[in-house]
Amino acid sequence: MSAPRPLAWHVTRWCDDPYSQGAYSALLPGGDVSLRHLLSTPIDNRLFLAGEAFNHAHAAMTHSAWDSGLRAAQAVAATQARKVIVIGAGFAGLGAARALQAQGVEAYVLEARDRIGGRVHSASLGGHCVDVGAAWLQQYALNPLARRAEQLGLERRPTDFSQPLAAAWDGPLPDINRAYEGLKAAVDRTQPLASGVERYLATLGADEQRVARYAIDANLILEAGLPLEQLSAHTLDEEGVGHGDQFLPQGYGQLLEDAGAGLDIRLKHAVQHIAWDAHGVQVNGLRADACICTVPIPVLKQMHFSPGLPQAYRQALELFTMGRLEKVVLQFEERWWPVSRDGYLRWYDAPANWGEWLDLTDAVGAPLIAGLIAGDAVDRHYRDKTDQQVALDACEKLAAWAVAIRRNND
Ligand SMILES: Cc1cc2nc3c(=O)[nH]c(=O)nc-3n(C[C@H](O)[C@H](O)[C@H](O)COP(=O)(O)OP(=O)(O)OC[C@H]3O[C@@H](n4cnc5c(N)ncnc54)[C@H](O)[C@@H]3O)c2cc1C
Repeated sequence: MSAPRPLAWHVTRWCDDPYSQGAYSALLPGGDVSLRHLLSTPIDNRLFLAGEAFNHAHAAMTHSAWDSGLRAAQAVAATQARKVIVIGAGFAGLGAARALQAQGVEAYVLEARDRIGGRVHSASLGGHCVDVGAAWLQQYALNPLARRAEQLGLERRPTDFSQPLAAAWDGPLPDINRAYEGLKAAVDRTQPLASGVERYLATLGADEQRVARYAIDANLILEAGLPLEQLSAHTLDEEGVGHGDQFLPQGYGQLLEDAGAGLDIRLKHAVQHIAWDAHGVQVNGLRADACICTVPIPVLKQMHFSPGLPQAYRQALELFTMGRLEKVVLQFEERWWPVSRDGYLRWYDAPANWGEWLDLTDAVGAPLIAGLIAGDAVDRHYRDKTDQQVALDACEKLAAWAVAIRRNND
């Protein structure tokens, strides 16, 4: 089957964006969660690092960013600071600035882009609002942004990640999640992840290996956004999707607006240099008592600090990188793909490509569908391609999934 041509598309380029340089933080081999904790510890009570990467309880998500911003604000307030510069207007920066403001501390947010939200961005496609960055409120029961969405009465839709409408290119699929649980239980966390996984796979028969490889593509690489060779074995223990997650059919933008309301936010204020001494901090000509810096890890690594960051922080930063995840949202004349229970689809191909899809048709009231691609697959499918080529290629993968689903149902 050849895919119908979409009417419109939005193709993300988070990995090439100088202010994100990827999707979310990931621990390289040798790294563990204690580094997230170390990096969130204040430096000379002047510089405070915050953002999704510096949440040791749960990283990489919007509420990880928010919580880490609140934590940094609390630490700053304990220093009696009266004026604070917050760098970055993503959820970490907005959370920090709100919390400071609530305590009567003056907070100035310097944001490089011409919009707030960072890796959260609700764009318009064919007149419909679509999230081209984060979409789900994850770990729903524990998520403070979910509580805010409830208070604001925002429409929400649950996604049951354990019940996708799933198909593989090479025949029926046994239980992927069970295969993943088996792998998680067996892999030795003290060994490099790639070799630990290879050792585990070698203990399996051919059929079990096939399913285990799909489980790795879907539950590890698509989640972390990196190939196994670049991941710490502790990635297996980091929390992620699959805890009652819900998405916002009208977009995350509503939560962002609420978070940013009433704050002093200066857009198009890129920061390259942060200086501090016993008297305070200086950033872009502004002086203050302290600075909360919430930029993503690669941007942080490129910043200049006077004095330099302590050695332990520099070493810790070297054990972080960014996962690679991109999204395409496609709009069609009509829905031509099989309908699933709550719109969640999985496609298992070799090599992996557009593996995860969210059918937005019922939620948005128009034939829209969003696909995700991660890790090495991003390079394979994006290199030297225009947005149109990326979008049409994703359509072909969706069509292959649809053929496989129909074949399974025959
Ligand atoms: C495609 C995709 C899908 C995702 N899906 C989900 C999901 O469904 N659920 C979920 O919970 N999370 C998801 N995430 C992750 C989530 O978006 C991030 O973890 C979270 O938004 C990070 O927030 P933050 O405030 O730490 O960083 P950011 O949102 O990156 O904010 C940092 C801010 O700093 C600004 N900045 C950067 N450099 C400078 C500079 N030099 N000077 C001044 N400002 C600067 C940036 O412009 C940005 O506004 C997804 C991410 C991506 C890319």
